[in-house]
Amino acid sequence: MTVLLRLQAVGKNFGGLAAVNNVSFDMKDGEIVGLLGPNGSGKTTLLNLISGAHRATSGNISLYGKNISSLRPDQISHSGIARTFQLVRVLQTMSVSDNVICSVAFREKSAWGREAHEIAEEKLATVGLQDKARDLAGSLNYIDCKRLELARALATEPKLLLLDEWLSGLTPQELETGIELINSIQSSGISILIVEHIMSAIRELCPRCVVMNSGEVIADGPTGEVLENESVVSAYLGG
Ligand code: ADP
Repeated sequence: MTVLLRLQAVGKNFGGLAAVNNVSFDMKDGEIVGLLGPNGSGKTTLLNLISGAHRATSGNISLYGKNISSLRPDQISHSGIARTFQLVRVLQTMSVSDNVICSVAFREKSAWGREAHEIAEEKLATVGLQDKARDLAGSLNYIDCKRLELARALATEPKLLLLDEWLSGLTPQELETGIELINSIQSSGISILIVEHIMSAIRELCPRCVVMNSGEVIADGPTGEVLENESVVSAYLGG
């Protein structure tokens, strides 16, 4: 299978702190992978490196074999990587539909107008927000804000979606809906790297997990095995 994302000895230092240290792993086209690790282990920093918000201090990141390590976030978005954030970011004073149209137009500047509307409608239907297209984004409840953020990410037509605790804060019932939604997005051919603390969701969604601790990868493999791994258990217990 084609390699989608390749991280080769990726590192990021903040002053004297190695937030990400010598991280290497591949993701295959179509794969969904859980990125786990205790607080402060470097997960969000790694997502920031992949999406271009931070530039790596060392190593290489490539997408379909093309080095993206020194591209700007907008160029990386255009290459096919989208992300959601731990704290939801939507444009509160715009309509739900216009929020998505902005993302479509960001991808394809010529796509203002009717075409952007149609793409926005399609993405809103994917996340189950079609009936709220005309509502103000600021009036949405928590899960609908999360759905909107996902629709905005999907509007850039990513090949790889980075989800940073997208499922956190949902009720048990919403969680089921959220898991189904992520599953259906993956089934549509989008690869997903998911940072999540809810282990039941990780077990359900991800056949494979990569675990970080103190900036380094300490396990990578089938989820069931990785979660039993002694160094993973002791990392979570602070050992
Ligand atoms: P996680 O997402 O696994 O909780 P982070 O990637 O947020 O971990 O953080 C990894 C380490 O890098 C932590 O020690 C954190 O304090 C540090 N860190 C993250 N971002 C910055 C930053 N912008 N400046 C300095 N230190 C940072």
